[in-house]
This record gives sequence, C-alpha cells and structure tokens, in this order.
Amino acid sequence: TKSLSSNFIKNIVVEDLASGKVKEIVTRFPPEPNGYLHIGHAKSICLNFELADEFKGRTNLRFDDTNPVKEDVEYVESIKQDVAWLGFEWDGLFFASDYFGEMYDRAVLLIRKGLAYVDDQTPDQIRETRGTLTSPGQDSPHRNRSVDENLDLFARMKAGEFSDGEKVLRAKIDMASPNVNLRDPIIYRVLHAHHHNTGDAWCIYPMYTYAHPLEDAIEGVTHSICTLEFEDQRPFYDWVVRECEMPATPRQYEFARLNLTNTVMSKRKLKLLVDENVVDGWDDPRMPTISGLRRKGYTPDSIRAFCREIGVTRSFGIVDERMLEHFIREDLKLKALRTMAVVQPLKVVITNYPEGQTEWLDAENNSENPDMGHRQIPFSREIYIEQDDFMDNPPPKYFRLFPGNEVRLKHAYFIKCEEVVKDADGNVIELRCTYDPETKSGSGFTGRKVKGTIHWVDASNAVPAKFRLYEPLITEEAEEEGQSFLDHINPNSLQVLDGFVEPAMKEANGGDKFQFFRHGYFNVDPKDSTSDAPVFNRIVSLKSSFEV
Ligand code: ATP
Ligand code: MG
Ligand code: MG
Repeated sequence: TKSLSSNFIKNIVVEDLASGKVKEIVTRFPPEPNGYLHIGHAKSICLNFELADEFKGRTNLRFDDTNPVKEDVEYVESIKQDVAWLGFEWDGLFFASDYFGEMYDRAVLLIRKGLAYVDDQTPDQIRETRGTLTSPGQDSPHRNRSVDENLDLFARMKAGEFSDGEKVLRAKIDMASPNVNLRDPIIYRVLHAHHHNTGDAWCIYPMYTYAHPLEDAIEGVTHSICTLEFEDQRPFYDWVVRECEMPATPRQYEFARLNLTNTVMSKRKLKLLVDENVVDGWDDPRMPTISGLRRKGYTPDSIRAFCREIGVTRSFGIVDERMLEHFIREDLKLKALRTMAVVQPLKVVITNYPEGQTEWLDAENNSENPDMGHRQIPFSREIYIEQDDFMDNPPPKYFRLFPGNEVRLKHAYFIKCEEVVKDADGNVIELRCTYDPETKSGSGFTGRKVKGTIHWVDASNAVPAKFRLYEPLITEEAEEEGQSFLDHINPNSLQVLDGFVEPAMKEANGGDKFQFFRHGYFNVDPKDSTSDAPVFNRIVSLKSSFEV
C-alpha cells in the first residue's frame, strides 16, 4: 500500500529485523508534560505505536520530564488520556525523572573518564564562547579542572551548595568541532525547583540532550524516532550512549514534523492561547490539540487514517488541513445518523393542515447505509425551515421556496408558498404555505415533480439547540517581523447560532455525532450540552473540493 512505501522508517525496521541487527523493535513516545498533545504529536504517536504493533515489538509512553519548571501532572494525565483515546496501549509507562539517579551516576562516570567538567561560567558566557559555524569556540578557564575537583564540585552541586546558574556540568568533547553541538554541551544545571514527580529530591537537573539518549538506552529502545530539528544532535546522542557505557545502543532516526495549513502547532503558542483566554481551554474545539479535536468531534479512526496517509518522510511540507477533514467525513459517512436541524429558523404555517394534529413520518437514518434503519419524525401545522431556503425575489435557477413556488419537504410533503409575512422593517418573519396530502413521501406519488428539496423541523416538538460553527483561529500563517501570532486571531473563529433539532435529539449524549442535512457533521458538545438545551459543534461541512 501507499503508506508502506511512504514510511522510510518502516523500511529501516524491516531491514534491521531481517539482518538480525535487532531482535525485537522497541519504540517510545516521549512527550514533555508541559502542555496538551496536538495533531503533530498524533503523527509521532501513530508512527511509534503502529511500527511496534506491526512488527510485534513494544512501545513505551515516557514522560520526558527533565524541566520541572514547566511541567505539571495535569499535562501527564491529559497525555495518557489522549494516547489511550487514539487507541494505543503502551507497554511501559515511564518518567525520565525515575532515572535521575542513574543519570547522575553516568555523569560521575564521565567525570572519572575525564569527559566532563564543572564550569563556573554563566550559561550566557558559555553560549557566547561556543563560537559559530565558521569560528571555533573558546575553552573555558575551568576546562582542565582535575577529576577530583570535578567530582567534588559535582557532588556539591547535587548537595545544594550552589545557586541556580552558578555552576554547570559540561561534557568535554571538542571546542573546535564543526558541529557546534559537540562544543562541550551543558549536561547538568543547578535548578532549585520542585519537580512534579521527584519533589525536592534534586536541585540539579540533566539537560534534555544528555538525558534523552540515556532514557532510550535504559529502556532498551531500538529505534528512537524524533523530528528533524534533532538531526544535528545525533552525534552527541551517540557520544552519550557510548561514553556513558550504556549496555544497549539505541539509534536515533529523524523525520519531518507535521505542519498543517492555518494551524498553530507549538505547545508554547497553544498555551499562550489558553493563558490569554483566546480560547476556552486546551480542549476548545478550535484548538489543534487532540482533546480539542475530540471535543470538536474527530474520531480516533479518522486521525489515525490521516496519519497513515501523510506518511513519514524527511522532507519539509505543509499538509492541507482539508485532508484531515476529508478523513472525518469518510469515517462518519456511513456511521452518523442523518437528521434534520434548522440552524437559522424561519417559521412556516401550513394553512390547510388540521390544527392540533400531529402525524409521524418515516425517515431513513442514513440513505447510504440501510442497516442504520428508520426513525419516526413528527409533522404538524407549524414547522421551521432554514432562512436560506426562502427568497422573496429569487434569481433564476433558484429552486427552493419563493412566493408561488412548490418544494419538497424532506421525508414529508410538497408545500407551496402562498403568502409572506413581514415585520414593520420588511424582514420576512413567517411564511404561509399549503401542502398537498397526495405528495406524501414514500407514497409513490408521481403526479408532478419539484426541483427543490428542503429540510425542516416540526415546530411544536422541536428542541431548541445551539450550533457552534468554526473557522480557523489564526487568519494568516506567516508571522511578520515584530508581530505575534496573537495579532492574527480570526475574530470569526466561533459563531454560535440558535436553531432547532428533531425531538429525538433529546436522547443524544455528549460525543454523539450526526449529519445534519446540508450543514455538515456535528458533535454533541461533551461539556456544555444537556438534553433540554443541546449544543452541537460543527466538525466539518459536507463537501469540499479537496481530493486525497
Ligand atoms: P512543540 O514544539 O509543539 O512544543 P515538542 O516537540 O516540544 O512539541 P514534545 O513533548 O517534545 O513536544 O514531543 C513529543 C514527541 O512528539 C517528540 O518525539 C516530537 O518529535 C514529536 N512531535 C512534536 N511535534 C510534532 C509534529 N508537529 N510532528 C510530528 N511529531 C511531533
Ligand atoms: Mg518542547
Ligand atoms: Mg520536543
């Protein structure tokens, strides 16, 4: 299949298993718990878990929690929920912070081997003396401290004798390396901060680039898959695994991160949207977070199908957001009940229909999937139709309702517009129509044809509902000089309309998904919806010009 060939990492795994380089593949998904997961993370989750599943390997969920200041258990819990919701089961659940003891011991080993030293320079000084691509770095005055002095200072760093930033531990590699990442990178820093997992046990914390290869090696990860920004770190990754004398040798592979049109995809920026109250939390349906997509109405299957389709490559690209929409339409097409909702209602009185009478009409639940059966919907003298389905002065080829014209009411009868009622300002507030009992849907009536079919809801039984329609949160993708992406917030990203749904919708539960004729697919909002006042989030409209 296409997805097989477009995943170059899968090809590597196949070769490694065939050659006996690895016996079993072990991958990991290693989020930092400093925010909620987004659709970009879903790409990495699917890649890691599906690879291991396919080749009967294992995948760990590992929290890369080496930076206590930004991390929180709320994020840990949300990440677990999101990975499980996507349909994946982790083999091991680990915290990088559980390995702090071993990481410390390995750093001591580096010191003993003359491969690490304590530096008194500030992080700024270290950055400035690291040199550039074209100039070598300068040695720190502390680079040649003795092993004993380094062991002593490092132990005192751990014991809390120094304040934040006062001392760091650096790997001793090569200040003239063409790869700047190898110019004695910092591997430990002093940070007196409370950690969500280890509490106050530590006041020194390992740097991510030192910690990550150790985490992988400790867990026996074979294929450590990360995004392309880390390509330049791979030599240091291998250095750490080798010089720390780890028994296992994980290999790092890089792939291109997912970018989506019209979509902000960075936890830092997403957190800003939450903190600035631009959105209603991390799970706001406008957010590209997994929890936002879930609340909007995306299904795990649709996200996984999307991730398979985009494949795994090393080339930069921006995926059209409409491709994600394509997959939720595909998933819901045969599953979602197709029902009628009137989003911007206009009352219609059917003047020749008996007052006080209600009849129940048969309606199929999904015209493309007969297995979904039928339901009964009420019909009576007063109904609501969509304001858009009527025009007082229609242009040519307008086939919906206008004075004197006849249309079909979906699942019901033909009606003809006889009279238009307006308010003092000339706004249309009601239509008075007649119906023809002969034309009942399903009766086999062939006497005459009409060109327009419109949807409706019986007024006396209708349930008032709110409909939330979404547009992208950010209007322009490019950030201009000196501007924040917050300057490009789309003021119309959320529109809330009041309308009506069929009475059976009272029974809908949060998370249930429906197709409303012509309006698209909607999800019952799991937080705000109640049976008396349902709230529907539009997942996606019905059609798109987009082709996969
Ligand atoms: P962000 O930059 O959005 O804050 P991050 O890379 O800092 O994300 P991590 O928690 O470090 O977030 O990510 C966990 C894993 O998810 C990493 O292996 C990372 O490479 C991967 N990942 C993050 N963003 C994307 C993306 N847009 N596409 C694919 N993989 C991603
Ligand atoms: Mg990050
Ligand atoms: Mg990261």
